[in-house]
Amino acid sequence: MSDIDGRAVAKAIRADVAAAAAKLRAEGTAPTLAVVVPTDDEGTAWYVRSIKKAAEKEGVDCRVEQLDAPGKGEIIAKLQELSADPDVHGIICQTPLPDGVTLPEVGWYISPFKDIDGANSEGLGRLAQGRRTWAPATAAAVLELLKREGLELSGARAVVVGRSTVVGKPAALLLLNESATVTVCHSRTKDLAAVCREADVLVAAVGRAGMIGADFVKPGATVIDVGTNPTDDGGLVGDVDYAAVAPVAGRLTPVPGGVGPVTTALLLRHTVEAAELSKTHP
Ligand code: NAP
Repeated sequence: MSDIDGRAVAKAIRADVAAAAAKLRAEGTAPTLAVVVPTDDEGTAWYVRSIKKAAEKEGVDCRVEQLDAPGKGEIIAKLQELSADPDVHGIICQTPLPDGVTLPEVGWYISPFKDIDGANSEGLGRLAQGRRTWAPATAAAVLELLKREGLELSGARAVVVGRSTVVGKPAALLLLNESATVTVCHSRTKDLAAVCREADVLVAAVGRAGMIGADFVKPGATVIDVGTNPTDDGGLVGDVDYAAVAPVAGRLTPVPGGVGPVTTALLLRHTVEAAELSKTHP
């Protein structure tokens, strides 16, 4: 089994981002990402700081818009304001959102030209139509890792465990658009392990520590672990039981060091792409 090195992939993407950002700056455009933070959740604050640090390292400006105990209207107003601001090129809205507010509801107010994390349902619609769009960065990271491994996805059996709007569904659509034969599993799926064992490519996006054991994995399969589950000692583990699956899988992403760093790198790549797009669609 070989580990898929997400940090190395992220480094390569970020080098390209830095070059693109430098070119944009030389042409008079400072690529700018705005992060709307509608929560005081400590985990979210840590994640936003890490995005800002990564952005600034690669020459992408990052504006953090902290909102204190906002209502839905306030979040929407901020997203509309940023969508109309010509100095902002990419917009993300962090979760958790206030009770009763969903990401698709507020994401609709992010301009599709700035929706670099696929929060506007127009993006998911375009993805379903097989058209070019920015998929949610985590789902895009799954595909990026598979492509950089040089895997033949056309005709491959892919199983995605998890059907959330931000990860499972867009990952399944991206795989389908690559002509994989895709099965999407969820909490009602019967005999989950047997379905997963059919997969040449298995994507786990559940949020349950270590639930994918050796009996879920076909020998030699490629396993992408999207799960990030906090441990009592402040660490992170994936949805895959790494020690059990490593001897069976052909390739496997570790947690941390797999999907996570690539997700951040893609947020930056999407932002410079949006900045480039702003020249023709101001
Ligand atoms: P989510 O919205 O909670 O969705 C979880 C999905 O897993 C649901 O579709 C659910 O099925 C399914 N599920 C739950 N229990 C199951 C079970 N026992 N068997 C089969 N399916 C089951 O979570 P999410 O936002 O997609 O995130 C998934 C994981 O990815 C989390 O660990 C999250 O922290 C992580 N994540 C990582 C990144 C990154 O950058 N690395 C980014 C985003 C998320 P139902 O639909 O039937 O309820």
